[in-house]
Amino acid sequence: MRLRVAQDIFLVRQLGREVARAVGLETQDQTRMATALSEVGRVLLAAGSDTVVAFTVEPYGVPALKVVLAHPAPGEAGRLTEQLQQVGRLVDTMEVDDGGTGTVVRMARRLPPGAPRLTPGRMEEIRAGLAQHVPGSPLDELAVQNQQLIAALDEVRAQRDDLARLNAELEETNRGVMALYHQLSEELEETNRGVVALYAELDEKSVQLRAASEAKSRFLANVSHELRAPVTAIIGLGRLLTDSASDELTDEQRRQVELIRTSASDLLTLVNGLLDLAKAEAGRIEPNWSEVDLKAMFGQLRGTLRPLATRPEVDFVVDEPGVPVLRSDEVLLAQVLRNLLTNALKFTASGSVRLSVHAAGDDAEFVVADTGTGIPPELHERIFEEFYQVPGSMPVSGRGTGLGLPYARRLAGILGGGLWVDSVPGEGSTFTLRLPVAS
Ligand code: ADP
Repeated sequence: MRLRVAQDIFLVRQLGREVARAVGLETQDQTRMATALSEVGRVLLAAGSDTVVAFTVEPYGVPALKVVLAHPAPGEAGRLTEQLQQVGRLVDTMEVDDGGTGTVVRMARRLPPGAPRLTPGRMEEIRAGLAQHVPGSPLDELAVQNQQLIAALDEVRAQRDDLARLNAELEETNRGVMALYHQLSEELEETNRGVVALYAELDEKSVQLRAASEAKSRFLANVSHELRAPVTAIIGLGRLLTDSASDELTDEQRRQVELIRTSASDLLTLVNGLLDLAKAEAGRIEPNWSEVDLKAMFGQLRGTLRPLATRPEVDFVVDEPGVPVLRSDEVLLAQVLRNLLTNALKFTASGSVRLSVHAAGDDAEFVVADTGTGIPPELHERIFEEFYQVPGSMPVSGRGTGLGLPYARRLAGILGGGLWVDSVPGEGSTFTLRLPVAS
């Protein structure tokens, strides 16, 4: 259609709405398109008469209604763009072009997804319908416009009410969240206070524990030290009594003196063991680090322990050391190995007792393996406790105090390593002492 006089603005507005409705735009979008058209028409008419208005639909891609308004006067683009800025918000796209032949305004609005398909048949129908369109008077158009304005105002009010409700809900939720946050912070603070108090208590308890352990070690060291002298005297006196130079004793007296001597000897072993352990626990054992020749040490152990391996059913084997030298304390290391070997010989009735050493990474692993009674798995840690002896385990020879292994483990720790056992009852035990090669 053509836009020549002010009256035509009403016409273009009506037609725009009709077209928008026919192609399937929703009511609000129809009003938007009509308003945009009448505004653009008004501005173009002010620039001079005779604007051609063409409606097209874009059926490909995203279907849209397009309107092209061509005005014969060129060079108006800059001014129009400025004036139509607000109007551009009513449609999806709006472009103003300065063609050689005039100024062209293009607007487009996308059709909603549910709009009926615009087949060629449907397009024909729309065209025919529009051709029969009887233009209403400006008053009619004003009435329609008023109705649309009322509808729009209603909608704005409804939206404002919705917004107010949503705001109220949001505020309510915020209050809830804040209350929850405060509650959680308080709970967290409470828990933190509890944890801090617990730690303080733990610290205090561990100080008390350390003090108690030190007191125990001190007590053991003092008592054992005080006991050593009288027990040694008893053994000496016993030996004197049974000496051939002393007065002859009756058989019964000799038996009883012998009993006193062995008991005193056992007591001395116990006292010595306690003293060693107390010293180790009190940190009073300072290793004397030096290069240890393991070949020589193994030779010595072989020699000193051979007398204990008296049973022909038991093979006592000391392997050639797989690690020749080691930086450690010779005396303490020999003490641990002697302890383990003595135990192995004590609890092995037949088979073998074997000592060996091999490299394991940066460490040396000493292994004392026997084919003796073995130790049930649940007691593998308990045997390292002071005075603990496996219930019912009878040494093949000798007696024990239950202090050897705890002491040996302490020494292993002092030497920078560890000691543990692997054992199957009835098959034997393997004690492994792991020490750093270079301390
Ligand atoms: P003791 O040998 O003086 O009793 P230990 O602390 O050396 O004390 O050993 C604790 C206990 O561990 C022993 O009484 C024995 O029950 C068990 N045990 C230690 N070595 C062996 C072994 N090689 N085979 C079987 N049992 C062992």
